[in-house]
Amino acid sequence: MSLNNLFTCEIIAQETPYIKRNCSKCKMNTEFYCSEKFRVNANQKIIDSWLIYNCIHCEGTWNYPILSRVNINKIDPMLIQKFMNNDKETIWKYAFQINKLRKRCNDVNTDIRYELRKEKLDLLANEVTIRLCYKYDFGLRTDKLIAEIFGISRSNVNKLAQKGTILLNPNIKMKSKVIDDLQITVTGDWYKADA
Ligand SMILES: [Zn+2]
Repeated sequence: MSLNNLFTCEIIAQETPYIKRNCSKCKMNTEFYCSEKFRVNANQKIIDSWLIYNCIHCEGTWNYPILSRVNINKIDPMLIQKFMNNDKETIWKYAFQINKLRKRCNDVNTDIRYELRKEKLDLLANEVTIRLCYKYDFGLRTDKLIAEIFGISRSNVNKLAQKGTILLNPNIKMKSKVIDDLQITVTGDWYKADA
């Protein structure tokens, strides 16, 4: 009988992605960091809000539009409160809207620092499943992450996937981006040396 043990691996972003755009003061394409502050304008009942970015060289600002001329009656009051309080979770939610940010900038640098917090694997099990917890998506590739979790090369990961030793649920491609709640099942005992 095979034991099927479920473990969790949390991918924890340590910073928000930098964006690249032209700085009007520096007169060049440069990086901006997220200030972790919102700006909110209320004019009568019309609300605008932005997330503020600053140039890494001159602190010049760029405002990422979040709400544009929205009637206050159509906004959850809790959300306005979060804008006012610079609620970190809300800021990070917008700062990780990589696709939306890319449309407004020259590029978004997703090569950010992150930490893996994994439960210790049960070395007696001959089959383990690791469930990923990936709250802030910054475009990590699945094979790169699995290689990191098990301390093996990316080509090895792909070989093991072809043999069916590593299975993904849902069954996405190894080259795909990591998704929250992805389950990685590995069989055999090859991982024990590195876990
Ligand atoms: Zn600048």
